[in-house]
Amino acid sequence: MSYVDEVLEIVQKKNADQPEFLQAVTEVLDSLRPVIDANEELYRKNAILERITEPDRQIIFRVPWVDDKGQVQVNRAFRVQFNNAIGPYKGGLRLHPSVNLGIIKFLGFEQIFKNALTTLPIGGGKGGCDFDPKGKSDREIMAFCQSFMTELCKYIGADVDVPAGDIGTGAREIGYMFGQFKRIRGSYEGVLTGKGLTYGGSLVRTEATGYGLLYLTEELMKCHGESMQGKTVCVSGAGNVAIYAIQKAHQMGAKVVTCSDSTGWIYDPDGIDVDLLKDIKEVKRARLTEYAAAKPNAQYHEGRGVWQIKCDIALPCATQNELLLEDAKQLVANGCKAVCEGANMPTTLDATKYLQENGVWFVGGKAANAGGVATSALEMSQNSERLSWSFEEVDAKLKNIMVTIYHNIDDAAKRYGAEGDYVAGANIAGFEKVVQAMLAQGVC
Ligand code: NDP
Repeated sequence: MSYVDEVLEIVQKKNADQPEFLQAVTEVLDSLRPVIDANEELYRKNAILERITEPDRQIIFRVPWVDDKGQVQVNRAFRVQFNNAIGPYKGGLRLHPSVNLGIIKFLGFEQIFKNALTTLPIGGGKGGCDFDPKGKSDREIMAFCQSFMTELCKYIGADVDVPAGDIGTGAREIGYMFGQFKRIRGSYEGVLTGKGLTYGGSLVRTEATGYGLLYLTEELMKCHGESMQGKTVCVSGAGNVAIYAIQKAHQMGAKVVTCSDSTGWIYDPDGIDVDLLKDIKEVKRARLTEYAAAKPNAQYHEGRGVWQIKCDIALPCATQNELLLEDAKQLVANGCKAVCEGANMPTTLDATKYLQENGVWFVGGKAANAGGVATSALEMSQNSERLSWSFEEVDAKLKNIMVTIYHNIDDAAKRYGAEGDYVAGANIAGFEKVVQAMLAQGVC
């Protein structure tokens, strides 16, 4: 049996109840086969695959907090510190009722390779809690965030582990968490990224994942002799990534005609009105039905369905496993040329395979949405320097990083005879960097 298959079997036995984690490990290890086969003896002797699939540590803790009725509520929280071979652990905090250890492990595992791809010195980690921020008052959010950080602050630090936002964790939550960290640890340090601009945040961080996704997509199109100008784009999601992806796509001359949230989706043939969307989602924190109410030409549909709309480019920006095989078939039938993932693992394995086999240029989230964490690393640099860079400076660095990522994954795929397989290219490029560091640092 090959080394990859042996390790996949071990990982499956040890983590049988974590389907998302198994999905992520299978996707990564499968695509790494050419690299691993070429170095099998060295990697086997050093147990590289066993080590890279087992987190350094997994912290699970209780978060008690008091709701507005005076009732004590209890949630379960996680921080998975996966691999710090190339820098401090780095990865977001997800607040969503679906959060469990398997989901945090899948995200932390993917983060190792994504962070390596950014070309910046950051390791992989992820955290979160099964707390649902929806419908909570501002006071309840603060009570939760303070209790969450009261425990988490024991395990993080500017040179140790630097969490950030993710689903459900935006600027407001990061602010409350930062305040509590400072209060308990008495240290003013860049322990979280995604901070407000008045206390150490970086310009462009809010826009970074969406903008970065478009910078990479534009480069992909350019290298295939195409441009963004005049292209029709379908986006899913209506959160941080989706909003700024739509904004940048419009700035590049494309037209985004869809967006979605967890209850329904919008088709707007005139192009999504970003200001209206921002007002509904960022200010009012309301449903997309309000979008259709304000725009007579737009249609609102319950449930899922953005991928049935004809487009040149599809950008899934909502959540994991939201682009299924049937959606992939529809996209191909509609002549879609490129799919770039703004969310983490939004496309199922069979859908990815179908898209790739049918000539769609497919760039997975590890590369395509790395702009968020890359800009977080730029925030860390500014915090260390005690300086703030201008919007233009950070934006230029972000663009340069995304273009570099595209060429690095393209080159890595070509080196292993998999030209055009950007999923393999991303995994290989990220893996090579982390493994070199692991080998240099001995058994640890
Ligand atoms: P947000 O919480 O800001 O937005 C998520 C959006 O997706 C919301 O509009 C939400 O709907 C929608 N959504 C959630 N679940 C579903 C579902 N099952 N079906 C359809 N829509 C759904 O999160 P982000 O935009 O920050 O993150 C989106 C994705 O991007 C995640 O996978 C995240 O891990 C990834 N990512 C985020 C980065 C960042 O910098 N923010 C960086 C890299 C990756 P509703 O409005 O109803 O809640």
